[in-house]
Amino acid sequence: THFGYQQVDVHEKQAKVAEVFHSVAAKYDLMNDLMSMGIHRLWKRFTLEKSGVRKGQRVLDIAGGTGDLTMAFSRRVGPDGQVILADINASMLQVGRDRLTDKGYVGNVEYVQANAEVLPFPEAHFDCVSIAFGLRNVTDKDRALGEMARVLKPGGRLLVLEFSKPNNPLLSKAYDTYSFTALPFMGRLVTQDADSYRYLAESIRMHPDQETLKQMMQDAGLDQVQYYNMTGGIVALHKGIKF
Ligand code: SAM
Repeated sequence: THFGYQQVDVHEKQAKVAEVFHSVAAKYDLMNDLMSMGIHRLWKRFTLEKSGVRKGQRVLDIAGGTGDLTMAFSRRVGPDGQVILADINASMLQVGRDRLTDKGYVGNVEYVQANAEVLPFPEAHFDCVSIAFGLRNVTDKDRALGEMARVLKPGGRLLVLEFSKPNNPLLSKAYDTYSFTALPFMGRLVTQDADSYRYLAESIRMHPDQETLKQMMQDAGLDQVQYYNMTGGIVALHKGIKF
């Protein structure tokens, strides 16, 4: 399709991603619940369990958007810890900041507009770095993973939660049909924007599968990389340790 970003210019992809998230920011949480039938909450809860984050630690939530993970991390690290929600998109960042502030998450959360490919933080700074449903939107994924490894302290954990490859061909077919028909349909209904959701479906299909992402994380300097399939591999959590 015309959003098949492997053929398009890098800047074109970045511009498309910006347009998509400006367009969906206000309705993002509602769409997340609708599209995943609420299951994204379980995927995120599992991610949190695997994070090993404790009181007083410093966490970076990249592509944090409206802040689901940031909120949970903020509770975990407590008043002596710190969570930074970073996102490239000003509209998403605004919605996230308003939402968290309204819910009373103040004091240990900060907001930074940043591209995952060029993180404005010193090396060995964080105990945990997360990126949930964000990596597939990043143009240079290897560079971004390298940056994530750089800002992690030795022994720190990187968590990548992302759509992946369903491990059963039947599920894979059903899921493909769902992504390319129901998603744009719901997108149009709720946000008057079917194109953005068509882009999302396309970006999911193009994303590296479980083993490829594992290798990419190893190449970026992460150790003990393992992944957990969820919902039949529709989503996978990859975890790696900085050595
Ligand atoms: N992490 C949140 C969650 O799980 O609900 C939000 C995920 S949302 C699907 C993807 C987010 O990635 C958007 O907020 C978008 O602005 C952000 N994003 C896209 N490209 C990015 C990049 N290169 N660097 C940082 N954030 C990016």
